[in-house]
Amino acid sequence: MIIEGLKLPPFIKAPCHQNEELAPGCAAAGRHQCFPKNLDTCAGLVHMYYSRTEENVDTIWSMIYAEVAKVASECPASNAEERLEIMQCLTIFLLLQADDPQSYEANDIGFLLTVAIDTYYDLALTQEWRDELPNTRPLYREWIFRETMRRSLSLMIYWFSTHILMLIVGS
Ligand SMILES: [Zn+2]
Repeated sequence: MIIEGLKLPPFIKAPCHQNEELAPGCAAAGRHQCFPKNLDTCAGLVHMYYSRTEENVDTIWSMIYAEVAKVASECPASNAEERLEIMQCLTIFLLLQADDPQSYEANDIGFLLTVAIDTYYDLALTQEWRDELPNTRPLYREWIFRETMRRSLSLMIYWFSTHILMLIVGS
């Protein structure tokens, strides 16, 4: 599972990793209670996806794509950190979609890809990313921002090179 208990994919650093006061609550619950709103919803959808049945899989995909539309509408008014969170959610949704290639067409994967690319592009143009790294060691928060961008981009390139090329070659 992409998000399981306290285990997270390499492109997400939980807030409790930066703020030790949050850590005991997450450890006691056995899952991250420190997530901001969008990541918390995303984690809930991940759990629903992995416990899906044939009867409810279409409903779960509808919920995931409704969430994609919601975060896409929030993105223009979001700051860089919120956009980064949205990017993390979209990367997770892309990975879930890659796990179920039979539903590409029914789910309108083009919409998910367009939202992900637009969000990444907007984020890549933010000043926080474009600023030169200082000669001194960057703050942990700055390192997380850049590292999350780098890891998400690597995943998206991998995703495109495998799944989209396979679709083109197969058509
Ligand atoms: Zn946490």
